[in-house]
Amino acid sequence: KTFDDCGFAPPLMSAIAKQGYEKPTSIQCQALPIVLSGRDIIGIAKTGSGKTASFVLPLIVHIMDQPELAKEEGPVGVICAPTRELAHQIYVECKKFAKIHGLRVSALYGGMSKLEQFKELKAGCEIVVATPGRLIDLLKMKALTMFRATYLVLDEADRMFDLGFEPQIRSIVGQIRPDRQTLLFSATMPRKVEKLAREILSDPVRVTV
Ligand code: AMP
Repeated sequence: KTFDDCGFAPPLMSAIAKQGYEKPTSIQCQALPIVLSGRDIIGIAKTGSGKTASFVLPLIVHIMDQPELAKEEGPVGVICAPTRELAHQIYVECKKFAKIHGLRVSALYGGMSKLEQFKELKAGCEIVVATPGRLIDLLKMKALTMFRATYLVLDEADRMFDLGFEPQIRSIVGQIRPDRQTLLFSATMPRKVEKLAREILSDPVRVTV
């Protein structure tokens, strides 16, 4: 399999090549066609597998396919990750591909002040990468709305549960329209994560690497 099979537009193909990604990793081969088709997915994969690009690349396509969204407020893509470190890695990966279309990515986790994040969100963004606690804080401050969010990623769901973020995750999911596309990635699938997946995903395809 190659990235050509995904039908990415030339600017995205060049950005992928510029990253030195010659061919899709195993998780990318399996996940990209499913996610690009608009279906929900459960991806059982660890860090290092290339899972990040398997949700970031389709997110860029998802946003570019809906040009009428551009004038609205609030993110189209919401990505949640358990820790500041992981969220930052995802943010860096997002920026590489978002910048080719001038899409704005906001990083919502500790390290930058809530006031700075508030101001950035008010200026508008298409993608947020957040830890659950910080996202909830900013939602409470009305720094953003999720009215136009249609693409939700929960990355390392098992670790988010281990860190006690289940209530925050449920609250976030409850604030995003039900006709969204939902992607859940996890290294393991303990019963509690399985239960959440059953509740918040619609007819998901499961892939394992
Ligand atoms: P991840 O598992 O998403 O954290 O990715 C692990 C590393 O693999 C990151 O440094 C990515 O930039 C890199 N990577 C992702 N996809 C590919 C690919 N198709 N070919 C080569 N490297 C990749």
